[in-house]
Amino acid sequence: MENKRHLLSLEGIQKTYVMGDVLFPVLHDITLSVDTGEFVSILGPSGSGKSTLMNIIGCLDVADSGTYTIGRHNVVGLRERDMARIRNRDIGFVFQSFQLLPRISALENVMLPLIYAKVPRAQRLARAMAELERVGLADKAHNLPRQLSGGQQQRVAIARALVTRPRILLADEPTGALDRTTGAQIMDIFKSLHEEGSTIVMITHDHKVASCASRIVYILDGHLYSAEEYHALYGE
Ligand code: ADP
Ligand code: MG
Repeated sequence: MENKRHLLSLEGIQKTYVMGDVLFPVLHDITLSVDTGEFVSILGPSGSGKSTLMNIIGCLDVADSGTYTIGRHNVVGLRERDMARIRNRDIGFVFQSFQLLPRISALENVMLPLIYAKVPRAQRLARAMAELERVGLADKAHNLPRQLSGGQQQRVAIARALVTRPRILLADEPTGALDRTTGAQIMDIFKSLHEEGSTIVMITHDHKVASCASRIVYILDGHLYSAEEYHALYGE
């Protein structure tokens, strides 16, 4: 099994923010592998470096050093244009704040990534409707985002993230703006996506949310720990 290729593999990832002549080291020697079909939570408190790591995993930002591969692609050192191609093709994003465009319908929001991917209109419609059905929102397809509840908006955002059939679903605090009950409904969607074979990486500060995943890794002050390492260091 040693030669098996992970879907995602980060090794020795470092990231330091520079502000004037002050350095803020944020990620220290991060090593993490994720296999196809895994559902991994990255759990840590506010300020621990979760979003910074997520941006690197999502090809929205680059590490200062280390290696990062998605499938066969080595991401560190790629030009922005090539990173954008990987980002658009391989990664579906779900954010805390939904990030829907306010003036177009739920359906049009879900269709948008397929316009960028140059999918013909009839297919765009069919695929977007199918994703809205999957998250239980076919009957709200023509509502504007403000005509939807927070939980419904997040379900639209999940449909939008899935419509391009990405290899990885990346979620940054997907329940952070929702009440507990609505958040639990969103986690049920993630769990069924995982059962259907999706690969999911989710970051959260909430232990209960994190425990929906099949594996939890811990981040503290920019250091990543496996569950075993974390419990040996900090107990439960
Ligand atoms: P989390 O998502 O876990 O709350 P972040 O990755 O957003 O953590 O931030 C980690 C640390 O890096 C914080 O101390 C934050 O203030 C700092 N930080 C984040 N982004 C920047 C930036 N663009 N420039 C400087 N410091 C930043
Ligand atoms: Mg964050």
